[in-house]
Amino acid sequence: MKSLELHELSSFRVVERPPPQIAPDDVLLRIRACGICGSDVHGMDGSSGRRIPPVVMGHEAAGEIVEIGDDVRGFSAGDRVTFDSTLSCGECAFCLEGKVNLCESRRVFGVSCGDYKLDGAFTEYLAVPARLLYHLPAGLDYSLAALAEPVGVALHAIKNLDPSIESEICVIGTGMIGLLILLALKHKGFQKVHAVDISPEKLDLAKDFGADCCHDSKQLASEDLREMDAALEVVGIEPTIKRAVGSVKKGGKVILVGNLSPEIAIPLQEVVTRELSLLGSCAIAGEYSEAIKLIETNQTTLRKLISAIIPLEEAASWFSRLYAKEDGLFKVIVDPSL
Ligand SMILES: [Zn+2]
Ligand SMILES: [Zn+2]
Repeated sequence: MKSLELHELSSFRVVERPPPQIAPDDVLLRIRACGICGSDVHGMDGSSGRRIPPVVMGHEAAGEIVEIGDDVRGFSAGDRVTFDSTLSCGECAFCLEGKVNLCESRRVFGVSCGDYKLDGAFTEYLAVPARLLYHLPAGLDYSLAALAEPVGVALHAIKNLDPSIESEICVIGTGMIGLLILLALKHKGFQKVHAVDISPEKLDLAKDFGADCCHDSKQLASEDLREMDAALEVVGIEPTIKRAVGSVKKGGKVILVGNLSPEIAIPLQEVVTRELSLLGSCAIAGEYSEAIKLIETNQTTLRKLISAIIPLEEAASWFSRLYAKEDGLFKVIVDPSL
């Protein structure tokens, strides 16, 4: 089978390997769609330390079951599925509480970070434990189903917000995850949602994804966005985090999703004296089923995020274009069966 290997920093090749052997509780998936994630693009040059070559990346995937292990129940060959990108142990205290994103021995498909390496889904076939699988509804194609992972991240980010308590919210940064957060907020019935970004094109899309009010951050004075019940920060640099902190009312919540900078200075007094809650949000813990439903009911909107569907052989050049931040590119989906 063919796999796309990051064999040195920023350098890919398509390699031929034998298909994986499956364990009794695994299925063998024929991958039909795998999204290129921002973390793959940032990671390929070594800067994140989480894509150490050689590794096959890819954690936003969907495909068809072609073989099942002896102990697998509830799934059969021919089933269309997506799967949780986190391989959790199922036994630690966090797993037992359903917080699989915090699992003590969490591994993520397509990540190679020194502690572990787990090859991902930029490949024709992948062995996946059946407990990570989710069936796809009949009308949902593989490329949209591959968005279940980022949509799950968005749903997880808003899980500590309640539309009956937090009615006015701002989302700072409307890249892929920011847009999906907007969609998730509107889907959950939040009343007034503001979007803030530096790019007018992204703000146009933010409207399609449900933003009631869009603000160009270049023209937005710090006093223009105040008294929000909550802010979601989806960039992760100092100016946007300061803006998030400044935008919420006393006692408000700031949910931190972006983490471009590993460290930043925060306006400590403002956080303490106004009793703000700063909450981190990472990955997904059980939001897949809801994500699949959200995708099913918002297919037309979500399709706007898919910039291209490409074969493995073209992936290296699309990685370069994404790395160069080419305008107008959102999600590029690799279909290894092409
Ligand atoms: Zn991702
Ligand atoms: Zn665990």
